[in-house]
Amino acid sequence: MVLCSNCRKRLGPAAEMLPPQSEDEGICELCGNILQEIDNYFSMFKEESRNYEFKTFLIGLRSSKKLLEKDKKFIEENGIKCRTFKEEFQYLLGGKIEEELHYEVDFLKPDILFKVNQENGDYDLWVRPVYLKGRYLKKRRGIPQSPWIDPRRGKGGEKSVSEYIGNAVHRAFLGKNFNFFALGREDVDALMLGEGRPFYVELE
Ligand SMILES: [Zn+2]
Repeated sequence: MVLCSNCRKRLGPAAEMLPPQSEDEGICELCGNILQEIDNYFSMFKEESRNYEFKTFLIGLRSSKKLLEKDKKFIEENGIKCRTFKEEFQYLLGGKIEEELHYEVDFLKPDILFKVNQENGDYDLWVRPVYLKGRYLKKRRGIPQSPWIDPRRGKGGEKSVSEYIGNAVHRAFLGKNFNFFALGREDVDALMLGEGRPFYVELE
């Protein structure tokens, strides 16, 4: 049976019963060699996440059902107490990130989710949005709350409240996209004075 060094390690004494083999003998039959890719995915995570400010993260792995079942069956049939290769991947990569980059694994509410797709080698970084709340005043008439779109001419010339606020916040946070939400709205020609109108911006 072809097993990679990390699978041999996680299986413990059970793997020692199997005949030894050299690493270049083929693709690991239990993990499909994903456990040999920890350093590669570590570099990808480091590169992809370097522009974000965050404290916690989580690793996700998507693998073929066939491989997951084969691994699980092997562990069960041999009565081995060990992590599945999927858990081992999360454990090894997560541990390396914690140790070398000093971020913390959070299973419930991570700031960043790094999803690896074993089937096509792709990965994806999901970043928790930032929410900002405030109140706005409108001291000049003629500003719509959301971008005004003329069915014939497209977007109108006057910038909207959501763009004034959203663009400024968005630039400050180096976000990719923003959504603006306000509690109610006033007429284009009305002012918003006093305590202002509550709003929040979601930054992605
Ligand atoms: Zn393996």
